[in-house]
Amino acid sequence: MPATFAESAFPAAPAALFDVVVIGAGPVGLACALEAQRRGLRVCVVEKGALVNSLVGYPTNMEFFSTPELLEIGNYPFPTAHYKPLREDALDYYRRVAAGENLTLRLYERVLALEGEPGAYEVVTEKGRLGTRYVIVATGFFDVPNRLGVPGEDLPHLSYYYKEPYAHAGQSVVVIGAKNSAAKAALQLARAGAQVTLLVRGAEISESVKYWIRPDLVNRIAEGRITAHFNTTIQAIEADGVRALTPAGPQHIPAHFIYALTGYHPDYGLLTALGIHTRPDAACTPWHQEETFETNRPGVYLAGTVCGGLNTSRWFIENGRHHAQVIAGQLADRGQQALM
Ligand SMILES: Cc1cc2nc3c(=O)[nH]c(=O)nc-3n(C[C@H](O)[C@H](O)[C@H](O)COP(=O)(O)OP(=O)(O)OC[C@H]3O[C@@H](n4cnc5c(N)ncnc54)[C@H](O)[C@@H]3O)c2cc1C
Repeated sequence: MPATFAESAFPAAPAALFDVVVIGAGPVGLACALEAQRRGLRVCVVEKGALVNSLVGYPTNMEFFSTPELLEIGNYPFPTAHYKPLREDALDYYRRVAAGENLTLRLYERVLALEGEPGAYEVVTEKGRLGTRYVIVATGFFDVPNRLGVPGEDLPHLSYYYKEPYAHAGQSVVVIGAKNSAAKAALQLARAGAQVTLLVRGAEISESVKYWIRPDLVNRIAEGRITAHFNTTIQAIEADGVRALTPAGPQHIPAHFIYALTGYHPDYGLLTALGIHTRPDAACTPWHQEETFETNRPGVYLAGTVCGGLNTSRWFIENGRHHAQVIAGQLADRGQQALM
């Protein structure tokens, strides 16, 4: 359980009073904030990085899978010249929404813990404390990669995040993974002049890869433009490549650079510091009521991708944005009841 005020490890400071503190300024956090604010609640969004920080970190030329209307929040139209919005379109869109709603944002301020009691919580950040009646945790999953767990994985030529291919023209690049991110990175890298080797744990490219990407990759492998090793286990990252166990036996695969695009998971350390329990199911689902999204801490809610735990594809922007109305509606009702 979290520390009480008296035994807090964090220095006390005067607490600002809000009705709702939203942790995380991703698309879902912003949707929650604006829906609560529109219902007359005093709202503050605390974000450890930039506005829509996860999207800032996505591949530079990334194209969303969703059409623009499915990414809209707060009924703001998402105009775009493209059938599928680009990352830059979305960055611009969510910034305009946040500005249009005049949301109170505390950017580059990491939340560390949650103290206090129901109705009188204190959100502890690296810069101070925020007093609030309710908390909405919309922290996503993009900050904690699923690490390989092999020797050498901290070497500087391995990254769990892919931005763009241009630094790798004429170089050997290993991509580890077989889902959408790995598939798109492998294709982009090959087209930008890198010699790409794809290392895949399973027997084939995942069936969950989008239907317009998968055949492209399968055909590039068939024509030899991308080398792929299936049923392959990574044994170690080395200074000049990857040691892997392939069906043909152990191999050293030379690489100037390695992208391990093996997915991400929620920050369970943060959830524990917020006092939120984890269900003992396969997805390690952060504890919340399915209908209300309220956690085991009364008045503390989960929203967006974080709700799925290790099942990071269960909730995304398209469906996670609807959590905002569900949660904000409850908070407004609670406010009305308190007045009666
Ligand atoms: C390459 C890619 C393409 C995608 N395409 C689509 C698509 O087409 N359609 C779709 O619907 N979804 C798509 N998704 C998924 C979608 O982007 C995520 O599901 C979405 O960002 C979830 O929104 P969120 O607000 O729940 O979390 P996030 O956007 O991840 O926001 C969480 C925020 O919380 C902040 N945070 C975390 N910890 C703390 C802390 N301790 N203190 C303060 N702030 C904190 C983070 O910095 C971050 O800004 C895609 C994902 C990827 C990776």
